[in-house]
Amino acid sequence: MVMRQLAGRGVRDQRVLAAMRWAPREWFLPPHLARDAYNDAPLPIGSGQTISQPYVVALMTERLEPRRTHRILEIGTGSGYQTAILAYLAGNGKVFTVERLPDLLVEAEERFRRLGLTNIETRLGDGAAGWPEQGPFDGIIVAAAAPQVPEPLAAQLKPGGRLVIPVGDLASQELVILERSRNGEGLVRQQAGGVRFVPLISRLAFTEER
Ligand code: SAH
Repeated sequence: MVMRQLAGRGVRDQRVLAAMRWAPREWFLPPHLARDAYNDAPLPIGSGQTISQPYVVALMTERLEPRRTHRILEIGTGSGYQTAILAYLAGNGKVFTVERLPDLLVEAEERFRRLGLTNIETRLGDGAAGWPEQGPFDGIIVAAAAPQVPEPLAAQLKPGGRLVIPVGDLASQELVILERSRNGEGLVRQQAGGVRFVPLISRLAFTEER
């Protein structure tokens, strides 16, 4: 999977490719789908949600630029697959992950235990508010699409920190990367192509970041 589906499509970061090689994707799927684990496709994980496609996980991880000591916030734990990859890459740092559906979170926590990942903290709730008590973060990654970048997330980025988020509606979404400047003042926005995610479900009003 790694060489053909990821490196072949332009994923270059060797650390990301190593993490994708390490993560047993079949452990994050319902048992009857385990044989499809290494197809490059999103798959259902219950509660109407999906595990992201490996290529998209690799692409988003590469654009996040996680480092060994980083504190990373993830919104939308889902199966926990992306979380595990981030925890592997930020081995001496920490991954904070927020999921709104309790059943999914319980299953993901069980997988983290099984993999021996001890640098993950989970929280049940609305991730659009971020996790201000644990911020600011070196990186923030969102696995569900929002109509606009939630302002609290941009506000919880460290200087030099990066936010990776699909922005758009159900029909059309673009992967957006926001980077806070080194002096902490400005935000630079880049786009990295079309993607397709389930919607971010939040009671917060979405206002564009400033
Ligand atoms: N990276 C995950 C993707 C899961 S799909 C994986 O590979 O398995 C997106 C997840 O975002 C779903 O589990 C959904 O329940 C969750 N989600 C949607 N809105 C949310 C919100 N406001 N806060 C936290 N999680 C949310």
